[in-house]
Amino acid sequence: MFKNRVAKVREVLKKKKLDCLLITSLPNLRYLSGFSGSSGALLINRDDGYFLADSRYYSQARKETKGFIIREYRKIIEGIAELSRAAGMKRMGFEAGDLTYKDYQKLQELLAKVKLLPFSKELDSLRAVKDRDEINSIKNAARIAAQCFLELKDTIQPGSRERNLAIELEYKLKKGGSGELPFDIIVASGPRGALPHGVASEKKIRNGEMVVIDYGSRYKGYFSDETCTLLMGIPTRKQKNIYQIVKAAHDKAIDFIRPGKRASQIDKVAREYIRQAGYSRGFGHALGHGVGLAIHEEPLISPDSSTLIEEGMVFTIEPGIYLEGWGGVRIEDMIVVTRDGCKVLTQVSKEMECCSPPVLKG
Ligand code: ZN
Ligand code: ZN
Repeated sequence: MFKNRVAKVREVLKKKKLDCLLITSLPNLRYLSGFSGSSGALLINRDDGYFLADSRYYSQARKETKGFIIREYRKIIEGIAELSRAAGMKRMGFEAGDLTYKDYQKLQELLAKVKLLPFSKELDSLRAVKDRDEINSIKNAARIAAQCFLELKDTIQPGSRERNLAIELEYKLKKGGSGELPFDIIVASGPRGALPHGVASEKKIRNGEMVVIDYGSRYKGYFSDETCTLLMGIPTRKQKNIYQIVKAAHDKAIDFIRPGKRASQIDKVAREYIRQAGYSRGFGHALGHGVGLAIHEEPLISPDSSTLIEEGMVFTIEPGIYLEGWGGVRIEDMIVVTRDGCKVLTQVSKEMECCSPPVLKG
């Protein structure tokens, strides 16, 4: 598996007339070598591949990676320079989105005769299409997330504090087998739901409010991402109406997905539906994003993304309507593109659901 991926990287090297490629981002290190630690570098040239680790990660790199010559260095940038000098490299590709300006300067100083060239898109598109093992890991992450969320949901009631629910869910996820979470869990109730990324606060949830909960989990390095919007008590007509608009936009986008469509066309299906319902100003963010070893990766599903959709891509569909002072609704599922459509990977039902028994009057 890693061998195939490295072979694909070598094809790109040849095409771009590079002598070697320097990989420093954690998702790409993991994707190409299996290394799951939090620091290291890969130097892939046309014939060999080196994994550079410092003393903290040397034995882990030996255990986790295969097919690379492992070298221990105290300072990785110096190590990279030493290796490329020894191999007579002239053109080195580096990850423009990851190497810091400081490290870039240092590297250029040590390798005055080497041309450093930014390189990133090719690896992003390789990672966008998932194989069966990757899809299984994502499914497992989604399964853990669903189990924990459903357990939490039964405990939510008027008076629950957003932050306590987020902490409780994080605890359940970790205990349920999740690795490091992709982001701080969002619990945004009532008017706070208008903040698309409203991290849980000390606010107490009140009867009659909507609650946006966005959470993810991680399994064997792969993330899941899902959002549910719950209703506390009996919904008002406006709440029901907005929920149904977002849900229909979500369903229409999912029905539309198949290989050969452009990402922007998928975005348009949902955005256009929301616009026609009169809420175009309430939906500002992209419709979705790829998920894998990173929580946000290719393909981006946005109005200006011309990416062609391929079988095996995994991404979210997450339309929302956010109205300042009122609140918000977001519905997010993850899908995998199949030969003739797509399959939803996240497991919690997104039908409108009322969370707690209505308060009886009189
Ligand atoms: Zn999310
Ligand atoms: Zn998302």
